[in-house]
Amino acid sequence: MNHTSFQLDTSIIFQDTFYFFEIKNFEGDYCYRADRFETINGKVIMNPLDQIKRSHTLLLQLLQKLGYHIAVDASVVFVSPEFFLYQAPKDKPIYYPNHLNRLMRRLNNESSKLSEWHKSLADKLISLHQVESAYSNVKIPTYDYKVLRKGNTCCICHSFSCSVCNGKVICADCGHVEGVESAVLRCVEEIRLLFPGMKMTTNGVFEWFGISDSKKMIRRILNQNFNSIGERKLRYFE
Ligand SMILES: [Zn+2]
Repeated sequence: MNHTSFQLDTSIIFQDTFYFFEIKNFEGDYCYRADRFETINGKVIMNPLDQIKRSHTLLLQLLQKLGYHIAVDASVVFVSPEFFLYQAPKDKPIYYPNHLNRLMRRLNNESSKLSEWHKSLADKLISLHQVESAYSNVKIPTYDYKVLRKGNTCCICHSFSCSVCNGKVICADCGHVEGVESAVLRCVEEIRLLFPGMKMTTNGVFEWFGISDSKKMIRRILNQNFNSIGERKLRYFE
């Protein structure tokens, strides 16, 4: 709309109302202060209410332009039971995990007769769906295997401060614990994404993973998850 794009995570068309929901997977403790969302340490984060406000306006403009007159109801839904918001505002369109059952019931009980008009609206919106993300225009910097920092990063906070202990990878920064196999497989995915032409070898994954002193363990995980091709020094995995 107006040469700018907006995203609707989930939308449901009812007879008189177009609902859309901004879905957030936030985990942990947050605080609502002076119309802002902050982490418990006071770091200001993107305010989901601002996001839906923007999407709401753009959607209304789009519907108007397309000639569809229907009320729009936008809300933010926090889905993780691990999420908690201190000083949560009462008067904002937000659903918390404890509300989800009630929200479902309410939507299920809302009577709604849909016509061809609604279907044509849905079809129209689907036809305007953009698969390409805003990121596709971003120029990726050139990079070289040799100069990149090696080492597993935490799957939650992306810290390099991870170590292996008893088959688990432990992050020293956020405390997250991940099975070593899952961490090694994430490394394999990274190598595949960053270096599509590179052969997947035990040595390569060992070096990229960087926090294990056991090549045997890396080889075992690769053997269990991929087909090995070739013998000994020339062996690689696909
Ligand atoms: Zn972490």
